[in-house]
Amino acid sequence: MYPTLCTDAAKAAWIETAAADLAAFGERHRKELDAANRDGRFPKELYTELGRLGYLGPLVPVEYGGLGGGIAEYVVISEEVGRHGLVSGQIAAQGQRWLLNWGTEEQKDRWLRGIATGEAVFSESISEKNAGSSFKAMKSTAVRDGGDWLLTGSKTHVNLGADCDVTLFYAIAEEGLTSFLVDMSLPGITTAVTDPVGLRLIRTADVEFDRVRVPDSARLGPAGAGLRTFLSTFNISRLGNASELIGLGRRALELGLRYATTREVGDTTVTGFQGIQWMVADAWTALQAASLARDDAALAGERGEDVALRTTTAKRLAITAAEQASDTAYSLVGGHGLYFDTPYTDILHDIKVLKVAGGSNEIMRNYIARRVLNDPGHEGLA
Ligand SMILES: Cc1cc2nc3c(=O)[nH]c(=O)nc-3n(C[C@H](O)[C@H](O)[C@H](O)COP(=O)(O)OP(=O)(O)OC[C@H]3O[C@@H](n4cnc5c(N)ncnc54)[C@H](O)[C@@H]3O)c2cc1C
Repeated sequence: MYPTLCTDAAKAAWIETAAADLAAFGERHRKELDAANRDGRFPKELYTELGRLGYLGPLVPVEYGGLGGGIAEYVVISEEVGRHGLVSGQIAAQGQRWLLNWGTEEQKDRWLRGIATGEAVFSESISEKNAGSSFKAMKSTAVRDGGDWLLTGSKTHVNLGADCDVTLFYAIAEEGLTSFLVDMSLPGITTAVTDPVGLRLIRTADVEFDRVRVPDSARLGPAGAGLRTFLSTFNISRLGNASELIGLGRRALELGLRYATTREVGDTTVTGFQGIQWMVADAWTALQAASLARDDAALAGERGEDVALRTTTAKRLAITAAEQASDTAYSLVGGHGLYFDTPYTDILHDIKVLKVAGGSNEIMRNYIARRVLNDPGHEGLA
């Protein structure tokens, strides 16, 4: 299991235990998870249980209530979450990176432990109706008022926006793009739940800020450093997204195979057809390639190398692999898969969301192309 990531005996043992724990969690709570997914409801009690088990704070040091792990632990947990259809800790992990990279001691003391244990729910309020892939059209503003800031703006697509205790709000200040850690109980904040097709366990919301007053100590990183605070997190969290995609693809393939190996059609089973076998081989190969690229990026990240190209490549491969595996699963199960009480359409919808959120497929390709075209000999490309 995860042979490339098992760099020593302790890590191998941890990976085995984590994978078994998360599989058992999925089995124990399958009915509740499926019901919450159908209703588009955040299962807070299951989320905090995952936190208690130690699976929400992979990157957080033990003294702050986290696992004290590295990127390898983060990607293993993310893949197993996708593979067993669990409530995702992806947004929490992003919050952890933001805080660890840029947080003051006061900010870390206030929020890090809660986010790592699931007692405090984190969200990121970045996208707006007219500002998604590009920040250029962002309209939210941060205006200094004495020693405070007044934050105003309308955010959309915010996972856990109506369920969170703290959000990271991006706005344009005089100095440029700036991020703020905002307590959601402050006056001037309203939220409205929205209804995404996928990742419904961490449902989305529109989040409205109307002159929300925050002290300067709520600012995360220097004023004007918003792009740096954003990229320092997303260059790594792409691996979490890639891993969830790989897990979702594996889940689709595994469930499809479980059905198809016993489903008889004429005088054979579905998996007896060579055309089906080749689809399975191709889907497995794509998942394997994505996993290896993901593992390579994770290990390079743990060595402290610049991993932006590696993580982007891994997400790009993971999107294709997950879509291919999902498509193959539909071929394995035929009409049986085309009902909402079977899991295949939820899996497909989760894949479609992860294809866009956290940097879309097209943005991944733009970045890869830019790096390749700027390095014609390809010597600096990892
Ligand atoms: C379910 C869900 C959850 C989300 N969660 C969050 C969240 O928690 N917080 C948050 O802030 N945001 C969140 N997002 C927003 C997400 O990050 C954006 O949807 C994403 O960045 C794309 O922006 P957009 O949808 O506005 O598409 P646009 O930027 O309008 O792009 C539209 C299409 O054009 C393509 N495109 C854009 N630019 C280029 C280009 N230069 N070259 C080629 N193609 C291009 C895009 O890939 C896309 O296919 C979420 C989105 C969804 C759907």
